[in-house]
Amino acid sequence: MIWHGKCMADFTHLLDQLVHDFPEVAFAEGKTFCWSPASRQVLYRADAQGVSAAYSLLHELGHALLDHRRYRLDFELLELEVAAWEKAKTLAGRYQIEIDEDHVQNCLDTYRDWLFRRSICPSCTTKALQLDNQPAYRCFNCNETWRVSPSRFCRPYRKTAGQQPSAVFAATQSAL
Ligand SMILES: [Zn+2]
Ligand SMILES: [Zn+2]
Repeated sequence: MIWHGKCMADFTHLLDQLVHDFPEVAFAEGKTFCWSPASRQVLYRADAQGVSAAYSLLHELGHALLDHRRYRLDFELLELEVAAWEKAKTLAGRYQIEIDEDHVQNCLDTYRDWLFRRSICPSCTTKALQLDNQPAYRCFNCNETWRVSPSRFCRPYRKTAGQQPSAVFAATQSAL
């Protein structure tokens, strides 16, 4: 069967297909699209629809198949994001889906923005560097240090009118 990825029924169909094709991965309903290394589950929104929902599902499956777990530094997170999208593109081809490159770059930009915000000194707004192997940053201007919350393979949804959210992996929604 050819899968066109245009409607909710097709998202459900893709999900069924992936559950069948990847028995080693656990798929479960969640509040957001997410790969949870701890429970080894790909979570998906049951009310998701549209082609970007399919992209998100494939992306999270990409994290799962690449066995992404923890990362130490924020820039490593971005590398894992890129890798998961590359894997998603490969998977997509099997299901006659083509992942839109603009969509991928948009998701990665969301991550870049988020990582940038984490790195800004809360005292003097200087861009800071993350301390080696620590979930903390130090400002070289004013010496302030601050911790960043541990991240997960989930992402806060970008609130853009008319645009379907997509999955990247990120920290808690309120994280700086
Ligand atoms: Zn500072
Ligand atoms: Zn991701």
